[in-house]
Amino acid sequence: MSAANDTIDLVETGYTNAVPRKVHEKVLVPSVVVESMDDQIKAAKLQSELMDLEIKKQELVAKNLEIQERQYNIRDLKQRLAERDIQEQQAQEDLKQQGKTFHQQRETDRVRQNECSHRKGGMASPQNLKALYTGGDGAQRSVIKHRMINNDIWVRCTRCRKTWTPPVKVNYFFSEDGRRVAPKDGVFSQDKFNTAKHEYDDAVKFETRSSTSSSVVCSFHRWDGDKHEWVDANSEYRESMANTDLR
Ligand SMILES: [Zn+2]
Repeated sequence: MSAANDTIDLVETGYTNAVPRKVHEKVLVPSVVVESMDDQIKAAKLQSELMDLEIKKQELVAKNLEIQERQYNIRDLKQRLAERDIQEQQAQEDLKQQGKTFHQQRETDRVRQNECSHRKGGMASPQNLKALYTGGDGAQRSVIKHRMINNDIWVRCTRCRKTWTPPVKVNYFFSEDGRRVAPKDGVFSQDKFNTAKHEYDDAVKFETRSSTSSSVVCSFHRWDGDKHEWVDANSEYRESMANTDLR
């Protein structure tokens, strides 16, 4: 009773585990027909082992996919990190470049301002514009003077753009190797301060036909809590302007 597509009488064979559509009807049965309980158990076990295997196979496939996904994620992450690294390096480079540009600009200014006569006149030609930024040889100074809000006069050369302002002490602290530094990092130089003061006083006296422009002039005071009175705050005003020029 094992040939494929045999027809059998279910009642005659005592095969009652299946539910026939109708008793005594001839039905088609699968190619393997199980006869005894033992065989049924064996078949069930086999079935279950096959299912186990199938499940394990699928688990393996799923695990492999997971591993693959994780590898892709790691690769993505590495790529993003590398990109960010590059961006950060680029930003650093940009900053350095900007710093260099500012430094170069300061150096160019310094050289020109040392060269400049801060005077009007001089011959400029299309071939040689030097007189326009290193000053001429006239008697008049090529400066504008401006009275600031606290009554200080600031002087600026129109050729080299040098600005003379009353020197402020916080700007005259130097490190051992002569660099200008913040007060907490260096020592105050009375000599350099005095030189700047002389230069400033001379600049204020520069002869020029242009009249001094002016702001609304105020005086600055602040309340001194210890002395219980208003005290002059002009030096505070100057300190707050210490790193500014008329550029
Ligand atoms: Zn000048």
